[in-house]
Amino acid sequence: MKLDSRPYVIAGPCSAESEAQVMETARALHEGGIGVLRAGLWKPRTRPGCFEGVGQRGLEWLARVKNELGMKVCTEVACREHVQKCLDAGIDMVWIGARTTANPFLTQEIAQALGGKGVPVIVKNPVSRDLDLWTGAIERLMREGVEDIIAVHRGFPVEQESLYRNDPGWSVALDLHARFPQMPLLCDPSHMGGDRKYVRKLSQRAMDLGFDGLMVESHCRPQEALSDPDQQLAPSELLEMVSSLNLPSVCCDDEKSAGELNSLRLKIDDLDARLVGILSERMELSRKIGEVKKSGNVSVVQSGRWNEVVSHITELAESYHLNPSTVRKIFDNIHEASIAEQNSIISNDEQNQDKA
Ligand code: PEP
Ligand code: MN
Repeated sequence: MKLDSRPYVIAGPCSAESEAQVMETARALHEGGIGVLRAGLWKPRTRPGCFEGVGQRGLEWLARVKNELGMKVCTEVACREHVQKCLDAGIDMVWIGARTTANPFLTQEIAQALGGKGVPVIVKNPVSRDLDLWTGAIERLMREGVEDIIAVHRGFPVEQESLYRNDPGWSVALDLHARFPQMPLLCDPSHMGGDRKYVRKLSQRAMDLGFDGLMVESHCRPQEALSDPDQQLAPSELLEMVSSLNLPSVCCDDEKSAGELNSLRLKIDDLDARLVGILSERMELSRKIGEVKKSGNVSVVQSGRWNEVVSHITELAESYHLNPSTVRKIFDNIHEASIAEQNSIISNDEQNQDKA
């Protein structure tokens, strides 16, 4: 699917709440040049008992936006019945939310209901950080004959205390882009940030990373919103934010920058290759250590040794003017992989003994 602008912006309330709220928000966004209105009708709420959307009756309000303002309208579908109702009401696009993308049964039934209908489908990343699950939902749609698909990256639920409501996990979106280079990729900074104060920063980051556009929540009176009141922007704030974005071109127009970029990228490729080689050497040593631990009946994890490694790499990071906590994260992953490898050496041996 080819988008007609960059950034391509889909904006509107988290939920449609009343005809007046939908019309007031849509009018303000339309006057500011936004072409596509989003509004949730069937809301997937984490706990029951809160506002769960107005459901089917909101379809008429979206149809009114389409007819009176000429905007495109889209809403979330989570099952076959939702799709059918949207098709009957002439909704222009639908989106599959993060909780639904995570469920292959539902994505399959939605794909079947949408196949051959010519309605573009927006697929948000699943709630688990799983590139294959996101890919699988897209593939199901493709196999059923859905031609126009847009991916939306909204980040992943966080386990620890964190700045954002959802961890940006940008690399997963970039990996999806590598799998589907022609598919438009948007960012949803509203659900990612969970607070309106982060929307601008996350939107700019998405533009810097080459995203094609944004899906942003906007409500005519954000503080009074019945869902996600903290993260929605008033239409005027949204329009100002979009117009303030700096849009680096995805490929360089000017030849000098293109050449420079290429040569820097080649150096990065070279360094990456060396890094992977070093990782492989390190893993080989780690396997040898695993063998020694096994024959000496020594436990795999020895916290004293790990503390030494951590203080060593922290000192090194500081001396190279690197952020120690970033370096620490990389080493946590390396350490975890080493432990897994050593555990598998030990458990393989146990299995062999069982067989004998
Ligand atoms: C939404 O866009 O309204 C929504 C519920 O988002 P997500 O599926 O990303 O949580
Ligand atoms: Mn929302």
